[in-house]
Formats: sequence, structure tokens, C-alpha cells
Amino acid sequence: MKIVYAASEVLPFAKTGGLADVLGALPYEIHLLGHEISVFMPRYKCVNLEKWKFTPVIDRFEIPLGTEKESGRVFKATLPNGVDAYLIDHPEFFMRDGLYGTALGDYPDNDRRFAFFQKAVLETLDALNLKPDIIHCHDWQTGLIPVYLKTLYSSRPIFKKTKSVFTIHNLGYQGNFPPDSLPITGFGWELFKLEKLEFYGKISFLKGGLVYSDLLTTVSERYAKEIQTKEFGCGLEGVLSKRRDTLYGIVNGIDYEEWDPVPSKSASKTELQKENGLKVDPKIPLLGIISRLVDQKGIDILIPVLEEISRSEIQFVLLGTGEEKYHQVFRDVAKKNRGKFGIHILFDAGMAKRIYSGCDMMLFPSYYEPCGLGQMIALRFGTIPVARATGGLADTIQEFHPETGQGTGFLFEEYTSDAFLGAVKKSVLVFQQEKSWPRLVKNAMEADFSWTASAKKYLQIYEMMAHTKSRSLEK
Ligand code: ADP
Repeated sequence: MKIVYAASEVLPFAKTGGLADVLGALPYEIHLLGHEISVFMPRYKCVNLEKWKFTPVIDRFEIPLGTEKESGRVFKATLPNGVDAYLIDHPEFFMRDGLYGTALGDYPDNDRRFAFFQKAVLETLDALNLKPDIIHCHDWQTGLIPVYLKTLYSSRPIFKKTKSVFTIHNLGYQGNFPPDSLPITGFGWELFKLEKLEFYGKISFLKGGLVYSDLLTTVSERYAKEIQTKEFGCGLEGVLSKRRDTLYGIVNGIDYEEWDPVPSKSASKTELQKENGLKVDPKIPLLGIISRLVDQKGIDILIPVLEEISRSEIQFVLLGTGEEKYHQVFRDVAKKNRGKFGIHILFDAGMAKRIYSGCDMMLFPSYYEPCGLGQMIALRFGTIPVARATGGLADTIQEFHPETGQGTGFLFEEYTSDAFLGAVKKSVLVFQQEKSWPRLVKNAMEADFSWTASAKKYLQIYEMMAHTKSRSLEK
């Protein structure tokens, strides 16, 4: 089959979160299973064209955006792993420091930027005669592609057999724009309806994907159920319930080559303690968190817990960036706890690896977590997750019971600092039990989070799609 992936971030080119990891791994896994793969992403400033040997394949194309026309270029490279990567180039839209915005907020022209990207993907496929069986779209930045396929592009012969799959990586990011944005997308006002793109008086790119895609997936079974409820549905639970027969939960994997644990965990811990100016002592529990610093990640319930642990003999390392309000809080926390806490307000893949590898426990207090990769990476490194039992965290971590020696981590249910602290304390207690801890670490390292099983599930879905009629809500 010919399968096209369209997404706003893809490793090894650009990453702000787990989406990029998935797009770096899944297409390659499907390629290994014998299929022809192309991956599309915008050409951001951070992409090194020379390094990956990108060359232009379309020198100039034009796309109408409202009353204006925007032109762009397309670059292509075949990656060393055999996957074809395409970059949509429009310097004014994409050659910026951030992918979606700055610490102060989203770029005001994200509607134009991503409407352009999505149309450009379809135009490129047509121009290069790439005839996809499946276009697999990811999150709001590609939510309109399924809509285009059923409307403005439905008569193009190249897409006659094309089916769309839309994956929800995070329902909290919806790409909602004022109604004025509708002309930019090229759609007429007949699509500005509750059962189509309208969402509380706005136009929602995400909703487009939810309504018009031929099949929906999300990144864990638990999250697939949660998003059909009022608590986690972000206002879209109605649409999602309607689609429950075509909504599948498939948990992400992690790239086992990228996340290959080092032989000595104790040496990693020593190094990490030194790097952070902490007392070098294998007996002091070392807790870490690597996270986008946003509400979803449970930063609010973390802050009071840090107060508590600063009074105990526990060390703590944080790596993260996100909302400015949290940056300030953590700068203060860092000042107060020098020699005990290591706080890094930045994005640094190398440091992330050292933290996963050197910590004893990693914290995942998320309010909601569609899948979460951090806990799987931690488990692979023998670093024990302390996590809220939600979404993918609940699906991938089993509570450890010292009596039976079964389980891989520590879970808490209620979204409160008290419940979180309770789980942290429990983990510290087990850490001090010389018999239980090595068993727990062993269990963690033996859990399988390779992509193999999940990639096969996606492939089954693609194959099923190619042979069945669309069951989208709007045709
Ligand atoms: P999300 O996509 O919601 O941010 P995930 O757990 O799915 O959450 O993926 C987050 C990924 O980004 C993980 O691979 C994590 O290690 C990485 N990450 C998050 N923050 C940072 C950071 N500041 N520096 C380096 N890596 C980070």
C-alpha cells in the first residue's frame, strides 16, 4: 500500500512533544512491513536541509488562501531508513523560532500557516502523482485534510480511492479559530454548522478530522474511552461518542534504538548527581520529571509536593519548558533548593536521556495523558514511574505490590497533591527495601513497549480501510 503521513512535527527534524516521536517511528515500522511511505511536515527553521540531503522536487506551487494566493516549494529526501520525507516550504510561515508560537502564546496566523500546509500536502501528492491508499493525519494541524478529501479535492482522480485516518494525540489542542478564518480554508459557509466544522461559534480544525475522517484512532485504549466523557471530551465527547464504532485506541511504542539503556544505572545516577550539584550518594532517592510545563501535565499538584520533598532526604531534577507562569515558579524553587534540586528550564534531548537513565523514579502527575511516552522510556531505563492513573499512564503501568513482587510502578487516582504525595512516599518506602526494589526495576525493564505490536495494529486498520466503505459522519 501507499501510505502518506501528514503531521506538524516529525523526528528527526522537529519536536515539541510525543507527536514527533510517533511520526519518527511509526512510518518506518510500516515501511519495514513492506509498504511505500511518505511523510509530510512543514519546513521549519530548525530543519537542516543539507544534513538530510533535501532537494527541491517542486520549485513553485500556488495555493489560494482567502482572497490571496500564497506560493511555496517542496523539498524531498529519502532518509537512511528508506522513508521518503517531504517538507512544505513557505519561509514567511514556517521559518520561525517556534513551531506553533512562543512562551507567550500561539502565533496569530496559525490558521493561515496550517491551512496552507494541509492544502500543500494534497497539491504535492497530486502534482507528483503519489496516489495514496491512506492519508494518516495527526492532530488539529492536519484535521482539515479529511475534510478537503471529501469536499474541495473529492473530484481529483488521484484521491479516488484514498481513505483518511485521523489520530488524536491530544484532544486539548483543537485549532479553533474565529469564523473569519473560514474563507482562508477555502470552505463555504455551508460547512460552518454544528454537525460539521463549527465548535462553539468557532471553526475547529480538530473537529474537521473527527467528523470527516474515514476512521479515528487515539493513542491508548483508556483515552479512547475517556474522551467520550464530559470530563475529558473537551466539548467534543458528543461527536466522539457518535464515532465510537470507528474509534480505536492503539498505544504508542518507543524507539528502542533511540532509547537504549546504558549498562550501569548506578554510574548514570552518580553522573546525574554530579551534573546537578547534588550530594553523590546512591542511597538518596533521586526523583525526576521531564515535561512540557503546562496545566495538563499536573504541574499544579507537583508544586506543593516539591515543598514537601524539599524537607526530606530526597533529590529532585526537573527538565521542562512551557508556560511562563511555571518558569517563574521553578526559578524560585531552584533558588531555594540549590544542592538538593536541579532545575532546567529548557528543551534538551541529551539531558533528557541522562535524567531518564540516572533517576530512581520519574513523576507523571498528569491531569490527563492520552498516551505519554516518558513513562515507557523510564520503564525501559529501569526508572520507576510514579503516575496518575489516567489515559496511557494507566494502560502502561501496573501498580507494584511488594507482597507478590508484581507490577512496574506506583499509581494514584485522585488529582490532588495529597494523593500524589502518597504515591511518592510509597515509592520511596519500596526504594529503601533492598529486596523489593531490584525486583521492581527488573519488572520495569522487562515490559515491552517496542513499536512492533502497535505498528501491526495500525496496518490492520489501513488494510481494513482500503477494503471497506467510509464510515465518516459527513460524506
Ligand atoms: P507530550 O507529547 O504531551 O509532551 P509525551 O510524553 O507523549 O508528552 O512526549 C513527550 C516527549 O518529549 C518525551 O519524549 C519527553 O522525553 C520529551 N520532552 C518533554 N520535555 C522535554 C524537554 N524539556 N527536553 C527534552 N525532552 C523533552
